[in-house]
Order: sequence, then structure tokens, then C-alpha cells
Amino acid sequence: MAANTLQLKDQADLLRRGLADLRTEDFELASLLDAEVARQHRTLSLASSSCAVKPRTLVACASALVNVSAEGIPGKRHRTGCENVDLVESLAIRRARELFDAQYAGVQSHSASNAISQVLSALLEPGDTLLGMAHDHGGDLTLGSPAIFTGAYYKALRYGTNSDGLIDYEQVRSLALAHRPRIIICGASAYSRVVDFERFRGIADEAGAILLADISHIAGLVVTGRHPSPINAAHVTTTCTHKQLGGPRGGLILSGRDAHTKVPGLKATFSRVLEQAVFPRMQGAPAVNLIAAKAAALGYAKSAQFDACMGRVRTLADEVASAFQAHGYDVVGGRSENHTVLIRLRGGLTGAIAELALEDCGIVVNKHRVPGETRTSSVTSGLCIGTGSLAQRNLDSQACRHVVALVCQVLGSVTPLGEQDYQLAHEVRETLRSAVEAVCADYPIADYLES
Ligand SMILES: *Cc1c(COP(=O)(O)O)cnc(C)c1O
Repeated sequence: MAANTLQLKDQADLLRRGLADLRTEDFELASLLDAEVARQHRTLSLASSSCAVKPRTLVACASALVNVSAEGIPGKRHRTGCENVDLVESLAIRRARELFDAQYAGVQSHSASNAISQVLSALLEPGDTLLGMAHDHGGDLTLGSPAIFTGAYYKALRYGTNSDGLIDYEQVRSLALAHRPRIIICGASAYSRVVDFERFRGIADEAGAILLADISHIAGLVVTGRHPSPINAAHVTTTCTHKQLGGPRGGLILSGRDAHTKVPGLKATFSRVLEQAVFPRMQGAPAVNLIAAKAAALGYAKSAQFDACMGRVRTLADEVASAFQAHGYDVVGGRSENHTVLIRLRGGLTGAIAELALEDCGIVVNKHRVPGETRTSSVTSGLCIGTGSLAQRNLDSQACRHVVALVCQVLGSVTPLGEQDYQLAHEVRETLRSAVEAVCADYPIADYLES
């Protein structure tokens, strides 16, 4: 063997070599990657989905598992060379089942929207009816929007929220009984109250429908007991792994007490159908490096630190809601029961302008439609604020109120010029940006530092 051959013995060697290579051989990309780390550290994210992964999860993403093709499931691969991959995937499955108290867990879906497509494609025939939450009312875009395949392949009916911003369960029931959908989907991206999964199941049973719960946004609150779990209430539950769970981009498909019962109208059980829904039906080889990262995140989600972080997510949401109310803003539904606070803007300020002006000042947040909305979804009249990142930064109540005051200062200093354009005085922008950077420096992303 040539004397200068570098031996890469383990994962650490590989990563060190990769970092050195990147710096010397591809400086252009290396600087972009560094710039993103810097951006995340000096901006405050109030996006409801945002979350920083732990470095150990990041390392799993970058592992040599990326080199393995592993179509199939542990013990039943269509390839050889999978002995380590089998153990990694089995570990991820075991952790997912334990964490969610599920009978069945599939860990291969590349994202939550993939997981939902896979479940729907396996349980529905094209043209079947599904009932999901309207995007306007807080539902995810994946759920029955005419712009998405769920709306294109199925007859998608939508339920919404009432004037208090709460899910209109009576509407869900009357739509379900009138149209007899094959499946009812409950789960939202911008809903600040508890979802009553048992009530949904009651409606599904009455209407002869399958119930799918999508808990992408609240999975961390669910596994730490801060939101009721849908695992046994729904026939099937899906979640992404990159929001509250702090994992890599990816999805999970879970099932509880119905896992081993037959799917209505089919000969196979839910677990069997769900397993085949992913491979071979909708995906090829899984991203095993990301499955390892899911295992890392699912392992961490059982820790006392994760539990404490989810506790902060909840208390900070109460704090954010009351702080906005103290500044005179209307909080949709009057309060939050999870990690999101939906606020109604005022003074002709649109969500689109608020989003841009806040970004100018180092605060990342998403516009959102509010009940009784008159503007389009690219303009909107509201902001959807989440506390995941603030909790990871370990903000206390006082710092949280300070952050809300900064947001209100930006909103109060903006002069709207139509729906998308605005003016914000240069000095105001500079002052606020420094104030935001100071908060970021005082409250660094804790999960980055702890490991
Ligand atoms: C974020 C989200 C999704 C989509 O997740 P991806 O992994 O990005 O595809 C689906 N459903 C809900 C409720 C979500 O919040």
C-alpha cells in the first residue's frame, strides 16, 4: 500500500478529513455552509416549525451509511452489505415505538408529506373522498389543497375553524356523515389549541372512516405528555422528524392499537399495508444516514433535557400570547395550548410586510391567515409565532417579553406602502438588529452547546 494512503478508520476520521478537504478544495461551498451557521446563530427564529438539531444528530446525517443502498426492511433487504444498516434501522424503529408507545413504526419516509402520500396511496383508491383541515384555517398545505396531489387524486373535502379559531367538530361530523369519506385527517400547521383526537375517532367510527393524525408540529409535546397522543385514537399517525423532534428532514409512520387489525375493505393489516406503502410502493432505497439521525433524535427525545425544553416551549407560548395581548394585539383563540401563537396584525399591516420587515431586523417568522381573513395566502393579515427556538435558546420570561417588545417595535415602526411594500427607517432597522443580535448572544442555541 502506498505510504501516503490515508487510512480512514472511523467516522471521526472521515468527518475530520471531510472538513479539511472542504476548506482547502471547495472554499466556495465551505463559506456558504459557514455563513448559514452564522446566520442561524445571530437571527432569532420565531417560525413555529423551527428547531436546531443536536451536533450528534448532524454527525449521523454525515455518516458513511450514506453509501449504502438498502431497499427493503431489516432482515428482508434486496441487497447485501446491510448488516450494520439493519441494526441502525432496527434501533430507530425500536426507539420510535418506545417513544410514541406505538405497535408499528416505519422510519423510511423522506418527509412528512411523503409519509402522508404513502399512507393515502395505500389506503385510498384514486377518486375516494378524504376530509382534511383547510389550509386557510391552519391545516397543512398537504391536506387536501387543490394545489397538491391530495386534492388532485382524491375528492378532498375541508373542514375549518369556528369564529373563535377552534376546530369546528360539528362541521367535521356533519361533513363526515354526509359524504362518508374513506379517511379523515386531523392535524395542523398553524393551530394553537389542543386537537381532540378521541373526538375525531368517535366521528370517524360513526362515519365508517379511517382516521389519520398528522402531528408534525406537536410531536415533541405529544411524546413528553404535554398534548394528548393520537397513537391509539387514530388508526395511523404520521409526523415529520425535523420540527419539534429535532431530527433530520424526514417522516415517521406510526400505528397503535389498530396496527394488527385489518384495514377496512382490504385483506391485510394496517402494519402490513403501511410497511408496503413506503417500499416498494412509493420509495426506493431509504436514506439510511437520515434513519441513523432519526435514531439519534428519538434517543435524545427521551432525555430529561428534551422534556425540560418542551416544558419551556409551553410556558414561553403562554408568555408570548400574554405579551402580545399586553401590546394590544389580538391573539386568535385568546391563548395558546401548544407552541404556536397566532396574532392578528393591525393598522393595515399585512403578514407579508411584517415577515419582510422582521427579517430585515434579524427575526425570522411566518405570515399566516387568520379567521375571517380577507387577504390571499401570499399576503395575509396575521403572523404565526412558535416558541421552539426560543426554548432551545433557553429564554426566560423576561427575555421572552423583551423579544415580543422588539417584534412590536418593528411592527409599530413600519409604514405599509400597499400589501407587499413598506418603509422602515434605517436607524430603526440598525437599532433593532443590534438588539436582536444581543439577545442571540445572551441566549445562544443551547442544544448546540450542551453536547
Ligand atoms: C410541516 C408539516 C408537513 C410537511 O412536512 P415535510 O416533512 O416538510 O414534508 C405536513 N403536515 C404538517 C401538519 C406539517 O406541519
